[in-house]
Amino acid sequence: MADRDGFIWYDGKLVDWRDATTHVLTHTLHYGMGVFEGVRAYETPRGPAIFRLQDHTDRLFRSAKILGMNLPFSKDDINQAHLDVVKANKLQSCYFRPMAFYGSGKLGVAPKKDDVQVIVAAWPWGAYLGEDGLEKGIRVKTSSFTRHHVNITMCKAKANGNYMNSILANNEATADGYDEALLLDVDGFVAEGSGENIFIVRKGKLYTPDLTSALEGITRDTVVQIAQEQGLEIIEKRITRDEVYSADEAFFTGTAAEVTPIRELDRRAIGEGTRGPITAAIQQKYFNIVKGLDAEHEHWLTYVK
Ligand code: PMP
Repeated sequence: MADRDGFIWYDGKLVDWRDATTHVLTHTLHYGMGVFEGVRAYETPRGPAIFRLQDHTDRLFRSAKILGMNLPFSKDDINQAHLDVVKANKLQSCYFRPMAFYGSGKLGVAPKKDDVQVIVAAWPWGAYLGEDGLEKGIRVKTSSFTRHHVNITMCKAKANGNYMNSILANNEATADGYDEALLLDVDGFVAEGSGENIFIVRKGKLYTPDLTSALEGITRDTVVQIAQEQGLEIIEKRITRDEVYSADEAFFTGTAAEVTPIRELDRRAIGEGTRGPITAAIQQKYFNIVKGLDAEHEHWLTYVK
């Protein structure tokens, strides 16, 4: 990853990819106190376009506020940084990683408050859970690791340290031969995947867990809007794992994971064990929107000119 050509936006400047480094005493490297985003740009008939950029930047700033972290740049600066890295790296489509972290100014648990650094990197990235997964669905395992409790870490912040829990869960699931983990909340109800929100379909209605301990996913919100436009009923409620077992369809949503069908949970086939028709329709609409093929949702696209 470090050994590439290209440019990374680093504290307001485009820096050569190989020079975008930081000191080993970087506070966030030690304690995980930082915030980040995952954003995508897709190739469209009018060139690359960033999907829901303002919503991602807004969430980055909300995450920082939750952690009490002051970002030394404006939202406009961060939006512009995304456009600059696409152009500088001559990308047609990409995944972006904006991140704010504490530097090496001080290593006590309490960081030096004004020592916040920000990067925006971008690189080409295909289907996160595989092209095959998008088409046929993935195999998921309920994790032995519980999702965060609302008063231990802050679930609404997309915070670096929160992802230790995600990594433990994902490593466990993939080591056991599954594609992804499903995490339950502290009360045993379905929360989310290691990097995805979850939906199930039953008798033509869509269900998704409330956001108590799940990230407020931008793809989740996109899917809710698509489903509403398609006249589907969406119910936000506590969901149990046996409701997932017996669902007609299930799918994960996320910027990286896009709309990925779940064909199996804990060795139980979901529905027919393939991508279901409602999932397929939502997935199709999602890809049309992000790829600039849907005039009604152009407002979600920021074109890189
Ligand atoms: N939950 C978690 C834990 C995530 O990391 C992500 C990815 N950001 C999501 C849900 C989905 O969020 P979004 O659709 O905004 O990418």
